[in-house]
Amino acid sequence: MDQVNPAGQHFFFGRGRKTMYEKIDSDLRKRIEDVVGTENLLSLPEELEDYGRDETPGLSARPEAAVRPGTAGEISALLKLANEYRFPVLARGGGTGVTGGAVPVHGGLVIGLERMNRVVEIDEKNMMAVVEAGVITENLHRAVEERGLFYPPDPASLDSCTLGGNLAEDAGGPRAVKYGVTRDYLTGVEAILPGGEIIDYGGKTVKNATGYNLLHLLIGSEGTLGIASRITARLLVKPEIRVDLLVPFPSYREAVEAVAAIQKRRLAPTAIEFMDRQCLEISRRVLQNPVPFDDAAAHLLIEVDGDEPGRVEKRYEAIGEICLEGGAADIRVADSPRYQEQIWETRRKLRDSIKTVSPVKVSQDVVVPRMEIAALLAGIEQIGKSRGVEIISYGHAGDGNVHVNFLKRDREEAGWREAVGKAVPELFQLAVRLGGTISGEHGIGFSKRDYLSLALNPAAIAAMRSIKRSLDPGNILNPGKIFPVDEGKK
Ligand SMILES: Cc1cc2nc3c(=O)[nH]c(=O)nc-3n(C[C@H](O)[C@H](O)[C@H](O)COP(=O)(O)OP(=O)(O)OC[C@H]3O[C@@H](n4cnc5c(N)ncnc54)[C@H](O)[C@@H]3O)c2cc1C
Repeated sequence: MDQVNPAGQHFFFGRGRKTMYEKIDSDLRKRIEDVVGTENLLSLPEELEDYGRDETPGLSARPEAAVRPGTAGEISALLKLANEYRFPVLARGGGTGVTGGAVPVHGGLVIGLERMNRVVEIDEKNMMAVVEAGVITENLHRAVEERGLFYPPDPASLDSCTLGGNLAEDAGGPRAVKYGVTRDYLTGVEAILPGGEIIDYGGKTVKNATGYNLLHLLIGSEGTLGIASRITARLLVKPEIRVDLLVPFPSYREAVEAVAAIQKRRLAPTAIEFMDRQCLEISRRVLQNPVPFDDAAAHLLIEVDGDEPGRVEKRYEAIGEICLEGGAADIRVADSPRYQEQIWETRRKLRDSIKTVSPVKVSQDVVVPRMEIAALLAGIEQIGKSRGVEIISYGHAGDGNVHVNFLKRDREEAGWREAVGKAVPELFQLAVRLGGTISGEHGIGFSKRDYLSLALNPAAIAAMRSIKRSLDPGNILNPGKIFPVDEGKK
């Protein structure tokens, strides 16, 4: 199978590729089946199709088998088998990752967590939730909100991503501006290390200073250091009031200056999302949602929450004034659940909406210090012009985290790939020059691994590789992610 990375380089995966790993033959398949049961082993090509891709554009590699285990013990037995026979294994949650983390680029076995999807406990007294790692993030939100509690991390993919995937990617979301990311809420994990050992680290305590923090080592490790099977998360009290503002600006510069002004005034918005004009045009066409200000060059979607109506009102009015002083043409206040849902649907579905106008695209996620976002957007505009590539941007402006989409539309493929191949490293260099880095929340996975050295020095990369080697000497767990596999080394 021929694949192309964002820089336009080709990769070859799948059958026929020389590999240091063993193939899963019929004897081995039988041993895998003995662990999970016949009904939980998938091996027909059509069954495996979906396990060979995630949401990364243009990347797929069919696994040799896929399983749906039901317990940590079964996962442990599978990892032991993987070491015994030396075949690659990876965990898969919702398959919504966008850097190829769940794509089995070296073949082998995919472990789907979909059967491990129970909310095990909501401990209202300790304000903690215990879930199996395959729980869909939105289901946890619903379960805790019914009890007046709140789990803040809200990746825009929350209707299909899982807590295990969120842990592995340290997922953020719009509310990260006020509440932080996944790492800030997890307190305990049961996980299976690459050798098959089951560890149990942390629990319902809000503090923990017991040895190396293995939970935090696993968070953001992109499924390369262990497979989470059970997760404990701390909860907050659900804010009673939520108000959203949709604010149109005549240019992106004015929009991001308003973001900086809001933050300097410490008005504690819950979310500040940025969308450029093309984003809204595309959304309006695809979702048929009326966009109130369709001639604006940029929009901010700002959320404020809290418990005291007077104070919430004061904060959103102050934010509104800053926006108007900063050049906003108008402000639309959404305080009814129906309207709020509509404007957030526009934002959450942007990724899919963009795909319908340009099925071939490359998207990147870069992050800079909050006050550098104007310089980042100006630099992105410059890269688009100089490379002759259409770029549309949106994202978490309040965090300095922008999703940059390079669209092909109906351009000729080879010329477009060549231009994007030059534009992508320029984008990463720009982010690093501004004091930022090459991923804010989507991880490195497969599609960014060739750029790691733009963001990290050799000593940092060597330290990461050494952690990986010590936990997974056979390199069986999600090989080829974050770093390429060194085929010469056993
Ligand atoms: C429309 C859309 C919107 C998005 N919005 C956001 C956003 O706002 N914020 C954000 O941060 N991301 C966002 N993402 C990216 C993605 O949803 C997140 O990275 C998410 O955390 C992935 O979860 P998943 O369950 O789908 O993981 P998968 O895609 O299945 O896997 C991702 C990685 O996690 C590993 N993994 C999965 N489960 C486990 C486990 N139990 N133990 C160990 N490793 C595991 C996999 O091996 C893989 O490396 C978005 C994606 C889409 C398509």
